[in-house]
Amino acid sequence: MKKSLLLLVFIMLTTLIQAQDFRFDEMTYSPQKTVFRLFAPADAKTVKVRIYKEGLGGKPFKTVPMKYQDGLWMAEIQGDLQGRFYTFDMGRGECPGVFAKAVGVNGKRAAIITLSDTNPDGWTTDQRPVCKSPADLVIYELHHRDFSIARSDAQHPGKFLALTEPWAIDHLKSLGVNAIHILPSYDYGSVDETRLADNKYNWGYDPVNYNVPEGGYSTDPYRPDVRIREFKQMVQALHQAGIRVILDVVYNHTYDIDHSNFQRTYPDYYYRGERQEVRGKRIPEATDISLTSHLSPLTSYSNGSGCGNETASEQPMMRRFMLESVKYWINEYHIDGFRFDLMGIHDIETMNQIRQMVDTIDPTIFIYGEGWSAGSCAYPNELLGMKANISKMPGIAAFSDEIRDALRGPFSDDTKPGWLGGVPEEESLKFGIVGAIRHPQVKMKKVNYSQKPWAQEPTQMISYVSCHDDMCLVDRLKASIPGLNKPLTSDLIRLDLLAQTAVFTSQGVPFMLSGEELLRTKQGVHNSFESPDSINHLDWSNKAKYPQVFEYYKNLIALRRHHPAFRLGCADLVRKHLEFLDAPKGVVVFRLKNYAGRDDWRNIIVILNASTSAQQLTIPAGSYTVVCRDGVIDENGLDTLSGTAAVVSPQSALILHDN
Ligand code: CA
Repeated sequence: MKKSLLLLVFIMLTTLIQAQDFRFDEMTYSPQKTVFRLFAPADAKTVKVRIYKEGLGGKPFKTVPMKYQDGLWMAEIQGDLQGRFYTFDMGRGECPGVFAKAVGVNGKRAAIITLSDTNPDGWTTDQRPVCKSPADLVIYELHHRDFSIARSDAQHPGKFLALTEPWAIDHLKSLGVNAIHILPSYDYGSVDETRLADNKYNWGYDPVNYNVPEGGYSTDPYRPDVRIREFKQMVQALHQAGIRVILDVVYNHTYDIDHSNFQRTYPDYYYRGERQEVRGKRIPEATDISLTSHLSPLTSYSNGSGCGNETASEQPMMRRFMLESVKYWINEYHIDGFRFDLMGIHDIETMNQIRQMVDTIDPTIFIYGEGWSAGSCAYPNELLGMKANISKMPGIAAFSDEIRDALRGPFSDDTKPGWLGGVPEEESLKFGIVGAIRHPQVKMKKVNYSQKPWAQEPTQMISYVSCHDDMCLVDRLKASIPGLNKPLTSDLIRLDLLAQTAVFTSQGVPFMLSGEELLRTKQGVHNSFESPDSINHLDWSNKAKYPQVFEYYKNLIALRRHHPAFRLGCADLVRKHLEFLDAPKGVVVFRLKNYAGRDDWRNIIVILNASTSAQQLTIPAGSYTVVCRDGVIDENGLDTLSGTAAVVSPQSALILHDN
């Protein structure tokens, strides 16, 4: 009796598949046979795989029951299934599995294709553009429709392919950005791919198939290979232009619960919430990595995303899923970076494991995220990827709401101004300028949101004043500062350029919303996630209307890229070389001294003046060259200045250097 029990335990231990060894290989094709594997509960009544000729409609021509074996449900179908579609069904409704790599229209069914057939010519020699430090990145956040939908010469407006077109590449290259952060580009649910002529718009924060490009951005969502090939063509064209591609990943929630692929394969496994003990089942610990763990059902779902649910990255298979998905986008699509939506929902351990895994492929792949959630999470705060915990996540950055809101005013109220509108937020701005690190001259007590520095290195802070969320810069300035709420004025342009000067001379990693260089407006709409193109589109005619704006952005970016003093990339160097000088109210002045970062320029002085009057400042005696003044930047010099007095015009930046 005792012997047989021991034998049983031995068999159980040797057949358990461990999560860390697991691969989500849900479909393995060969011309002779196709093997299906699904992670679904051991006690599921039946699990079936159905094979279809079409990606939508029609009846299955084959339905095969799957068998439970070694922690997974398996089926093997003989014959050549190339070009066919399939779904899994464990009693919760059909779905393409959690890790479909190709799908039919609207992502309802997975497709059997050969991925290497989707590679554009030259794909195997495609190379990631060089980037030595994240501090060297200039990130441009872009939505496919915003960028190209209103462009009259676009061949493929609103599609992945628009970013392969000469006008697009020329614009990005001349602006000087070297990384494009694309808003959700995996298959999402809110745009019906069978009705693309309706031109429905969505940001795409409603994930359906995490590992397949969105069909709405392809020229044919019905053909599974097309979206994959076109996505790769986009990456390839950007890489050839020296531009990295960063993916916005939204693992923190799904479009909904009942229809999600997670819920339809392993109910209640992937989500957080209240669990009820059921006889014979138990709540597994985060350290429990066997696939055969039994789970009691959730009695309620936590909603840390504000979108109705939150995923449980601490669950071994959810963690595994995220790791594998990130790896897949790097290897299959040559992705160069990841922006984690609501990273504060994910646990620190998962984020660190992702960083470590990515390092084994290429440590220059950049990882950053929103260091917050949109509601309270069913997991301890101190274990989550929150901004305050960034020091526990080396090599991972977070957005700084300190510098953003210091400049333009609080997220919670669009009508409230920030430093640009005369609010004394100098210390919060300084905190952003040093890159959220400890710096002896930043008085943390006066910093808006953080009581202590949260970044170990300045490259852990994303420096920005606007992103797709909330108002773009022009709209925010108009909404919050009296006198600007009328057609574009020179005051508004001055403040716009001043704001970006603070961002691009900051030691954090600079980030801008696409179209700000064209004085973009969303007509005052704050949350434009499903506003029509007429609100979200870039108005390209502004490029000719306000040439000085584009020119300033371009020269500002070039100034940063040409001068390592602005991107030291190391906390000790920032503390050593960056010093703030005394300045009157409304003015922030800093000096990058003694050839910071081996810069050609010995000392650089940046004077940022938000006040409505000209200000005279005392600066260290020297013989200076003026490179930025009154909304114009010229690295070769606009003027010279000798002595200890510098005068900065109202609402503008002055940048000088000696030698
Ligand atoms: Ca879709």
